[in-house]
Amino acid sequence: MASITLDKLNKTYGALTVVHDIDLTIADKEFIILVGPSGCGKSTTLRMIAGLEEVSSGDLVIGDTIVNDVPSKDRDIAMVFQNYALYPHMTVYKNMAFGLELRRADRDEIDRKVRDAAEVLDITHLLNRKPKALSGGQRQRVALGRAMVRSPEVFLLDEPLSNLDAKLRAVMRAEITKLHRKLDATFVYVTHDQIEAMTMADRIVVMNDGRIQQVAPPQELYDNPANLFVAGFIGAPR
Ligand code: ADP
Ligand code: MG
Repeated sequence: MASITLDKLNKTYGALTVVHDIDLTIADKEFIILVGPSGCGKSTTLRMIAGLEEVSSGDLVIGDTIVNDVPSKDRDIAMVFQNYALYPHMTVYKNMAFGLELRRADRDEIDRKVRDAAEVLDITHLLNRKPKALSGGQRQRVALGRAMVRSPEVFLLDEPLSNLDAKLRAVMRAEITKLHRKLDATFVYVTHDQIEAMTMADRIVVMNDGRIQQVAPPQELYDNPANLFVAGFIGAPR
């Protein structure tokens, strides 16, 4: 079970509060998208869930454990970033296997997990290549594969498609939606792109200035925006 609860969550840097009293419950296996303009606190919120930033106050609960003091490596999560950060000197296979090798997993099990993930992502034919011989879309698939082999209950994705061109973004939107259905995991996805939010999310969390403006499924958000900010943000042309 990997529901996630943010209970009066705050993040401050000195005198600056960048995440204000966020209350949110994400259901097990939900696809939730945090959306809002640059600087509104999306990445900071995600990084607190990941354990990459300390919580300033409030509680963060994953499953039935308060994880405020649980180190990132002991949380059952995998994170995918915008800039992929693949290891340039390793093959695709090695990039995907490396995290499991560090955990001293069994070699046959590693091999099975890497090949299963590669098949789902349609990158089996790329396993022996190095990252520099891949397109942007292929690299992003490898980054997803690296997260998948760990079979986490929670996937955290921070603007994973921002570096792709518009056409590839559309393809990968559909791919990630498909992946979520297949994987049986909770997805928390950050974007500033309202089209991604409207087409991919079970529920959308609209943020502005470190605060939640509205939480609703896409259609409801579109039909009944809670305030002018939400209406303007969701309705705005790209
Ligand atoms: P988003 O992902 O929505 O663009 P962020 O969560 O990255 O926004 O940032 C939210 C705010 O927190 C921004 O104003 C940013 O400048 C500030 N911020 C982020 N990290 C730090 C830091 N380490 N020190 C001070 N301010 C920070
Ligand atoms: Mg960000």
